[in-house]
Amino acid sequence: MKYVKYLTNRKATPQHQPIPESQQVPNSAGGYSFAVDDWTRLDRFLILGSESGSYYATERQLTIQNTDAVLRCLQNDGLRTVRRIVEISDAGRAPRNDPAILALALASALGDAETRHAASEALPQVCRIGTHLFHYAEYVNSLRGWGRGLRRTIANWYVNASAEDIAYQAVKYQQRDGWSHRDLLRLAHPVAPSNEHNLVFHWIVRGWPGVGEEPHPVKAGQIIWAYERAKTAPKREIIRLIRDYRLPREALPTEWLTDPDVWETMLPHMGLTAMLRNLGNMSKIGLLADRNRGVVNFVTKAIADGEQLRRARVHPIAVLAALLTYKQGHGMRGSGEWQPVTKVIDALDAAFYAAFGNIVPCGKRIVLALDVSGSMDDSRIAGIPGLTARIGSAAMALITAATEHDYAVVAFSHQMVRCNISPRQRLDDVADALRRIPMGGTDCALPMRWALDNKVQADAFVIYTDSETWYGDIHPVQALQRYRETMNIPARLVVVGMVSNGFSIASPDDAGMLDVVGFDTAAPQLISGFVRGE
Ligand code: CA
Repeated sequence: MKYVKYLTNRKATPQHQPIPESQQVPNSAGGYSFAVDDWTRLDRFLILGSESGSYYATERQLTIQNTDAVLRCLQNDGLRTVRRIVEISDAGRAPRNDPAILALALASALGDAETRHAASEALPQVCRIGTHLFHYAEYVNSLRGWGRGLRRTIANWYVNASAEDIAYQAVKYQQRDGWSHRDLLRLAHPVAPSNEHNLVFHWIVRGWPGVGEEPHPVKAGQIIWAYERAKTAPKREIIRLIRDYRLPREALPTEWLTDPDVWETMLPHMGLTAMLRNLGNMSKIGLLADRNRGVVNFVTKAIADGEQLRRARVHPIAVLAALLTYKQGHGMRGSGEWQPVTKVIDALDAAFYAAFGNIVPCGKRIVLALDVSGSMDDSRIAGIPGLTARIGSAAMALITAATEHDYAVVAFSHQMVRCNISPRQRLDDVADALRRIPMGGTDCALPMRWALDNKVQADAFVIYTDSETWYGDIHPVQALQRYRETMNIPARLVVVGMVSNGFSIASPDDAGMLDVVGFDTAAPQLISGFVRGE
């Protein structure tokens, strides 16, 4: 008994051992962390996915672990799981929608009757465009194949969308990942709710016999007519079709996609996501160039409009990825080079902050601590090349830094690392600075120890990490406890999880600690609220 008491009173346990009686579990790095609950795990999966694995665990391992957590949530409370999937997907809180689609497919295929029904109802909110629906079909197909309920779910998607929307979707993406609208219509056999639907379904499944000179008399038929015309039209007509019928670039023959006039005509109705993805293309063909001031102004104004960004569900990570790619002056697969326009880079920098919306500052003293250990350099965010958890977490930290007055940014691996970054720098410069920091082991207790040693007053520590801590001779929660007692400040701890694993350095039993998910667009607001004491 005495021995046990001695152990529980110990204020420092090396990280390669669990804190006695604490429920800590071995993490993937050989240290001990706390296990997060399945709901946190679900959030992490929905927001971070597990597409490129982590330094410690392969993508396959992480995907299996994550889907196991999703299945446990479904078993535990299927309706809550579906609600959460919809909440995160519909609000655009995640960089990619794929994990939400997979989770919804799991609910559709493996949930109980009530859950399957809820998943079916939720389909249009999660699968908002044809491509999403194709992904869903592919997941369902690989999970258990097609029952009557699932066919009806797909049929409802087509029946409940407007004929015009379906026509637009169909000219934009006819097929993806081995699935086409034609396949799905043949599989689901929806009964057309209107003549317009009938017209569109017919075109998708059988095509049209011929295309006349005159536009189709019915609205939903007009974009299809324009699409068919564009296949053989000369340039003057192409321009007119784009202008009058808002043909997207996917609906044009590829030969026009290097023409600056064609792109300039598409610009006014181009979605923000498409614009962000094609900044390099538009510069390469000479449209987005310093000499075309009108175009530069149009583009910079459009991408830095926070309201528009949120309405189009443009995730800040998509903006950051666009910035890092555009600034390089060349595409990923060596597909040509361009001269980046500085004004556009500046607008992308502003857009990253704007995409988070207005954040109410907490007005407290905050230490923002970045884990810059080796593992953070090896995890790719949302499958985006070059965007590591290390760079992504710096970007996230700068969101909070940009809103708060009293903050310090520090970085650590197995030692504190010099890190001079601030929201006044442009994000690409911050990324360059972060890339130069050498790798090291992981000791997540260091920010608290550093603050204590230097008598830094902090109401909250916000640590951006994968929680794979193993190096130190004291656990982070013990270091925080020591800080609280010595400084006499009831400091809070927020762990911003940057990898979709099952670990956290925060103790689930301490109400002064919170787990949030990195790259959740709601994270800065959640952090601020928690530090304020909500
Ligand atoms: Ca690490």
